[in-house]
Amino acid sequence: MPTLEGKTALITGASQGIGRACALVLARAGATVALAARNESKLNEVAAEIAAFGGTAKPFTLDVSSEESIKATAKAVLEHFGTVHVLVNNAGITRDTLLLRMKRSDWDDVITTNLTGTFLLTQALIGQMLKARWGRIINISSVVGQTGQAGQANYAASKAGLIGFTKSLARELASRHITVNAVAPGYIETAMTAVLDEKQRTAMLSQIPLGRPGSDDDIAHAVRFLASDEAAYITGHVLDVNGGMYMG
Ligand code: NDP
Repeated sequence: MPTLEGKTALITGASQGIGRACALVLARAGATVALAARNESKLNEVAAEIAAFGGTAKPFTLDVSSEESIKATAKAVLEHFGTVHVLVNNAGITRDTLLLRMKRSDWDDVITTNLTGTFLLTQALIGQMLKARWGRIINISSVVGQTGQAGQANYAASKAGLIGFTKSLARELASRHITVNAVAPGYIETAMTAVLDEKQRTAMLSQIPLGRPGSDDDIAHAVRFLASDEAAYITGHVLDVNGGMYMG
């Protein structure tokens, strides 16, 4: 298993689901983890889980839809840990509806949280990665950003946007040994997908060659690999973790 000893990782949306799984998996691999999200009590629970197996984690409240909050959290994390070696931009929301009914706020909320939040937090943290001449930036996109999905024009645009962002930044930062990659999950069982009804779930499963939904750990293991030294020669890549649902 790749080791992340001596590395500090900041994970957004670490209070539950995929972000929580990434935090646990990276901490088990030896990373010190900064857990960021809005829900402080859930972050405290994740920090306690990590402490229970001897890992190191600290919660930081963060609202990625607020530039002020992003700047304050980046500052607080750097003051506390000195460096962030690995940034996992995972926080994300959906506001699903057909375009005809989509309110401007449905569009803005999703783009601001999923895409602008990633831009601002990454920008706040790359200065110190450039100085260190080492870094890992991992953006959690989605299969929906690759295929599109009726009722998710806002979400799909944000997730496709993350892929363009990832590839551009990979080119900008490569000479300093900072890799930038995206993970594109398929259908993963978390609170985000728990809202699907049985019919939608069955339809989704019928499109997955591996015949099962993914778990948050399936994504966390991919993130751990991309964060490791073993993935040093991979940049600008979109890693599909989708059970074969889409083969890019
Ligand atoms: P969840 O809804 O379970 O978790 C979302 C996380 O994002 C929560 O920890 C939440 O924390 C955080 N978050 C939301 N808004 C903000 C905000 N403004 N500021 C800070 N944190 C925020 O979803 P998943 O774990 O399933 O999703 C994680 C990522 O994976 C998302 O980007 C999602 O789009 C992506 N993804 C998920 C798929 C799936 O099938 N589940 C498939 C493809 C991609 P809090 O509320 O505490 O702020």
